[in-house]
Amino acid sequence: MPAIKRIAIIGLALESNRFAPPTTSQDFFQSCYLEGDDILAEAQKDAPAMPQEVPAFIDEMNALGQWQPVPVIVTATSPGGPAEQMFFARFLGRTLEYLRAAQGLSGVYICSHGAMTATGDHDPDGTLYREVRALVGPDVPVAATIDLHANISATMVENADAIIPYRTNPHIDQAPCAKEGAQLLWRLMDSGEELGSAYVRLPIVAPTISLLTNDGGIFAQLVANSKAAQTKDVPAVCVAGGFAFSDTSYNGITISAFGDHDKAKAIVGELGQWAWDNRTGFKKELTSVERAIELATGQGPNVLLGDMGDNPGGGGRGNTTEILEALLAAGVKNVLFGMFVDADLAQQCHDHGEGAEFEAVFNRDCDDVNANQLTLGVKVLKLSDGLVAGRRGLYAGRTVKLGASAAIRVNGIHMVVISLRTQCADPGFFEHFGFDIATYKAVVVKSRGHFRAGFDQFFDAGQIYEIDADGLTTPVLSRLNFTNLPRPVYPMDEDTEWQGAGG
Ligand SMILES: [Zn+2]
Repeated sequence: MPAIKRIAIIGLALESNRFAPPTTSQDFFQSCYLEGDDILAEAQKDAPAMPQEVPAFIDEMNALGQWQPVPVIVTATSPGGPAEQMFFARFLGRTLEYLRAAQGLSGVYICSHGAMTATGDHDPDGTLYREVRALVGPDVPVAATIDLHANISATMVENADAIIPYRTNPHIDQAPCAKEGAQLLWRLMDSGEELGSAYVRLPIVAPTISLLTNDGGIFAQLVANSKAAQTKDVPAVCVAGGFAFSDTSYNGITISAFGDHDKAKAIVGELGQWAWDNRTGFKKELTSVERAIELATGQGPNVLLGDMGDNPGGGGRGNTTEILEALLAAGVKNVLFGMFVDADLAQQCHDHGEGAEFEAVFNRDCDDVNANQLTLGVKVLKLSDGLVAGRRGLYAGRTVKLGASAAIRVNGIHMVVISLRTQCADPGFFEHFGFDIATYKAVVVKSRGHFRAGFDQFFDAGQIYEIDADGLTTPVLSRLNFTNLPRPVYPMDEDTEWQGAGG
């Protein structure tokens, strides 16, 4: 009888925006930090507070046969600035301690985001993969799953046997992605095969809004082609769109393939050339704030307006006021607005209580970019402790912690105010307060794209607008002061050249 498969489970997820304040240890501890058996206990819950890949991976391993999980550390938090180096160093040290203590591992599963930076390391994902590999040795298969926005480094590719990406944006395939990773890891453990790899990074740093997979655009086609290119010989082909705001030297769209070396090389060359030849597809137009106000007041259908400049899901603080001020100045009525992240404002509402009307201060003592301090008369409609069960898309089946929260009315605008930074990607965040989304002429969401999978039951693609409000997550990359990006890169630098995968 073969020895039982013992698989280490490691999770590290942060999407880092260099322009945002550092992400602290506290941020991780508050959101998700689990060690050892706590990981397995959390994964068994109905709505685990952890990346969805981990419970999905465990489920699939259970379905595949007899195995023994070796739970290590799973930690994750909302997109933000680079992680404090001390946090990452401690995470890595503890992880390696667990792995050293676990004798006779058969495989390792790493669930990582792939677009993390730390204050002292531009590639902590790569560092993790490398240290894990160094410890377990070349013969223990290491399979990783990553977010579609990962900035994949050569270090990651060289130290993993396979990297499986999400293939949807908005992300709705975390579970299938983890399942694919589990199946491939199982195969590698059984067969003892060693997969080669090939990797190419294109000089394309795409605005995140051009990386959707449900619009039939260039990126959607590239991802579909990568999936179609997978064969038994090359079982993992990974296209990652990258996350521009990480601002690292290895930013860019990457294609990696794992399997027979020559075939993998041919695949990344072909896909890379195809993406390069079609690169104009990575340019995209936005809708102005002025036009957004017209849409919110006009006779047309109800509209969904995404605040592209202030997406907490990309490191935005959720507190910029450009669209809110424009709506107030225009006296717009019948608008639903979420979610405004301001713990002090939420506390003011809790202090006054439901039904109270008072002069509220927005962004008190806040010097974030584009987050103006406003004093506005508000009515508190409803209060909440902010524990909301996600209903659709990114947060489906997950318990989300918004912290002390309030529903308020500001002139003709109904708003949700929260304490813990979260992007407005789930209708449950409004419904939790009793708001009926379908009755509003305009719904404004602080979210870049994940709101699409949450609100698609109310708005079709033609009713959705990407609003060009300024902020930390503006898709107009030329407005940001990048210092580490490789340059030139398309489309910021129109005359960028590329010699091809072999060059
Ligand atoms: Zn992502």
